[in-house]
Amino acid sequence: MSAVCISCAAEKELPLARCSRCGLAPVGPDRALSVIASTRLLTEPELREVQKRILAGEPFRPSRSRVEAAGRVLAGQAAVAPVNLTRNQAVALALGNLLLTPALGFAVWFGLRQRPGLGARQALWLTLPVSLGLFGSWALLFVYHLRG
Ligand SMILES: [Zn+2]
Repeated sequence: MSAVCISCAAEKELPLARCSRCGLAPVGPDRALSVIASTRLLTEPELREVQKRILAGEPFRPSRSRVEAAGRVLAGQAAVAPVNLTRNQAVALALGNLLLTPALGFAVWFGLRQRPGLGARQALWLTLPVSLGLFGSWALLFVYHLRG
């Protein structure tokens, strides 16, 4: 168990997921309460205690410090820092693409493509020309080999 519904105390995997028993989808202040009613902020025994109280019909009123902690968790989820490659990172990636393999650049692009910022596009721009160049070289070698 990693979270309980703040309305019916059913167990859920993710604190902000819709409850499969009562259908509650946490919005507004319920989001903070739902984060509190999870192992993000409580130990497993504390969470079981909360579950017991909700089942007993007690209103779920966590302390102010818990609510503030939940607010910080939610704010951290919202602010995913954008990623831009620094000049040194770009040079290192370009060299790695040239000297090792362009798979390196594609790996960086793949890892960053969901993140905000220019990082993924920068990685692609540093990688595509190298891989096209390498592919062209191999193709030329192959053609000359066939003719020769
Ligand atoms: Zn529920």
